[in-house]
Amino acid sequence: MNEDKNYNMPWLCDKCKRELVLKKVKVRYLEGNFEVDLPKCPECNMVFIDEEMAVGKMLEVEKELEGK
Ligand SMILES: [Zn+2]
Repeated sequence: MNEDKNYNMPWLCDKCKRELVLKKVKVRYLEGNFEVDLPKCPECNMVFIDEEMAVGKMLEVEKELEGK
């Protein structure tokens, strides 16, 4: 009923229905390496990339190993 509820809704992983958490992820983008905060599923480690960033570009996300 409330339109702006969408706005606050946390992203969910399609597969696990878990709330995504923001994680620093290394991405390779146009020959450069960046660290960006991306929503990530704590269950399956799937990283969700902003459409704007991903559209028409080759964007590789390197899985970061947990635990140092
Ligand atoms: Zn998941």
